Amino acid sequence: MKAEVIAVGTEILTGQIVNTNAQFLSEKMADLGIDIYFQTAVGDNEDRLLSVIDIASQRSDLVILCGGLGPTEDDLTKETLAKYLKKELVFDPVAHQKLDHFFASRSKFLRTPNNERQAQIIEGSLPLQNITGLAVGGFLEVNGVSYVLLPGPPSELKPMVNEYLLPILSTNHNKLYSRVLRFFGIGESHLVTILSDFIHNQTDPTIAPYAKLGEVTLRLSTKADNQELADSKLNSLEAQLLQRKTLEGEKLADLLYGYGEDNSLARQVVELLKEKAMTLTAAESLTAGLFQANLADFSGASQIFKGGFVTYSIEEKAKMLDIPLSQLQEHGVVSHFTAKKMAEQSRKLTASDIAIGLTGVAGPDELEGHKAGTVFIGIATEKTVESIEVRIGQRSRYDIRQIASLYAFNLVLKTLLNS
Ligand code: ATP
Ligand code: MG
Repeated sequence: MKAEVIAVGTEILTGQIVNTNAQFLSEKMADLGIDIYFQTAVGDNEDRLLSVIDIASQRSDLVILCGGLGPTEDDLTKETLAKYLKKELVFDPVAHQKLDHFFASRSKFLRTPNNERQAQIIEGSLPLQNITGLAVGGFLEVNGVSYVLLPGPPSELKPMVNEYLLPILSTNHNKLYSRVLRFFGIGESHLVTILSDFIHNQTDPTIAPYAKLGEVTLRLSTKADNQELADSKLNSLEAQLLQRKTLEGEKLADLLYGYGEDNSLARQVVELLKEKAMTLTAAESLTAGLFQANLADFSGASQIFKGGFVTYSIEEKAKMLDIPLSQLQEHGVVSHFTAKKMAEQSRKLTASDIAIGLTGVAGPDELEGHKAGTVFIGIATEKTVESIEVRIGQRSRYDIRQIASLYAFNLVLKTLLNS
């Protein structure tokens, strides 16, 4: 279904008000799976409004007009649409009664003939009641085109849309269902390359990639009558996508770490630790506490995090973590050995279940012959101590530190899922 929004009001054109109604309506229509192809703003002028309505009627199935339903001279939207459709205005009894009550209870307000217009609808319309104001809205179909009239003030428009318009529209049309897949360990351009045929030929479901720092999400969306039908379409597409391999031959399925808009690596780690009643700690060098600060972003962090270490210099690594300085010097600070020792010792010293050791080169200068972006991450559990080397590459210090922390969360997540 093709739809468009026409916002009526000279104030929009002169920049006095921002057309937030169009944004609100577009968002609501997107939720219903109705495509908005155009947004127009037009002043309070009959001729120009008539021409905009005429164009909209030829190219859209649903035309939503907002603004200009009030009592004053310049409020001419309803009258102009009626004129275009060659229809009369009639009183809506409910809105008229509301007008009676309003003036009966407010002796100071003068009831002028203008006010009566607010209770009128175009003949054949379904009235849309105004819970927070006086001007009644309307929904009507003429020659296969549906027209909607809504008041301008957002405080009136929003409840009218939510309470009355959406139920009418959602019974007629498929809803939009989305699923967000979250990947770590692959860049956006790489992901788009290996899925390019799907992305180019997409119709339903659609695929939208979105890059965040260090990770990529794919939003799959489909229109369907209900969740079950949507799920079957989304499941089938997801299964096909996940069979793809990266350019290095890794299975895409192995890089998928979760679903949902807000379900970050850190969030999943915290949730899983809570579920398993386990604790996590860290000794951090290049990230200097970033990893631990991320843990504290979530409520209930105290259940899974008792404390940890920021050990920036080699001396503090030795002192705070009780590692012989000579060993650190022998193996180098940026090494598997140091990453593992940092994890192992911080786990012991805080009596935690899992520990991370983060050491590396934030850059831009090299360290111990390692390029900026080289990071070693150790992970210690009750049973094992392991480490990985990650090459983040030429990026800002900020990016390198953030991405290093994400790698650490990914490592914890994998360990938790495999234990
Ligand atoms: P009223 O009964 O208040 O006259 P109305 O339905 O005639 O309402 P307008 O006169 O067009 O609507 O606009 C009234 C007020 O509503 C504007 O001054 C503005 O504050 C707000 N408004 C109108 N159109 C929009 C819009 N598109 N986006 C955001 N706010 C709007
Ligand atoms: Mg007005």
